[in-house]
Amino acid sequence: MITKTAEYQVPYVICPTDVNNSSNANFGNNSSWTPDTKKLASELSKITKYDPDYRFIRVRAIGNLEVDGDNANCDAFPYSEFIDERDGYGYKSFIGKNAFREHQSDDINNSIGYLPEAYLNAFDLRQYAERNWSALDSKERIDILNFDNQKDGSIEVLMAIDASREPVIARKIDKGEPLGVSMGTNITHSTCSVCGNTAYFEPEYCNHIAYGKGATIAVQANQIRDNLNKGLMREEWLPFVLTRVADRKEVVNGSRNKIVLARTFEINYGCSFFELSAVANPAYTRGYQLEKVASRMDYSNINWSNYSNDQLTEIYNFINGVVNGR
Ligand SMILES: [Zn+2]
Repeated sequence: MITKTAEYQVPYVICPTDVNNSSNANFGNNSSWTPDTKKLASELSKITKYDPDYRFIRVRAIGNLEVDGDNANCDAFPYSEFIDERDGYGYKSFIGKNAFREHQSDDINNSIGYLPEAYLNAFDLRQYAERNWSALDSKERIDILNFDNQKDGSIEVLMAIDASREPVIARKIDKGEPLGVSMGTNITHSTCSVCGNTAYFEPEYCNHIAYGKGATIAVQANQIRDNLNKGLMREEWLPFVLTRVADRKEVVNGSRNKIVLARTFEINYGCSFFELSAVANPAYTRGYQLEKVASRMDYSNINWSNYSNDQLTEIYNFINGVVNGR
């Protein structure tokens, strides 16, 4: 397992056996929890108990590879990982996790709030609606991505910030000043955009990812073509890997082993989101607060886990309606 933060600095990768760091990584229902982790989770629920001084803000937490490409850390997240329905994965894994400042999530006492809801700006599949995104081929996906008024497929999160713990950020929210946010996620593995190398742990990184993330390098077209054939690369991602149109044409339609210029970034799979932080320099450039939702709403009687996603979406839309004065 590798841990990712989309922070403006070089991402750090923690060892999964590091108890201090990994124990906070899955505050969902996790049967593999140690007694210590369960104790931590129970303390967490006390810390995040409802308080009228909470500020609720709706934030764009993360965008996907198909629309946004890789982020400032040269990390990319395919849309397929957002709609991962497995327990503890996908966009819903944000729900119930904690809010922090500057990714200080290795100590639960640093929590500045919690994340009551997450919402996916799901792609509108239109004539493909009967099918699953993951089952579509690249031609169909590119067709969908080019639909008029297509959604951006990003994940938005409702963030509850305790003003008594974080008065500076609360004041920023109250004054309507922009607030940067950045998510933290565990991933099961990642691949390299250039050589297709798969890494489950940091030592398994190829040199491109270990030392050259974000670099543009000259490679033979066959290498990218092989990645496409093996499903390690997808045609809809190519504009972010091969910035020159001629190179894309060569890789997709050509057969020669010409030299093309390819960008190195890391493609992340198996996302289990575990925190959202208020930060000074968010990696995901559109990861700014979208709008202030409500500063004083009584959520004390709501047990969010009792609601289906559709119901939560309804609540979420209602909250947005309040903010927008509808
Ligand atoms: Zn590589």
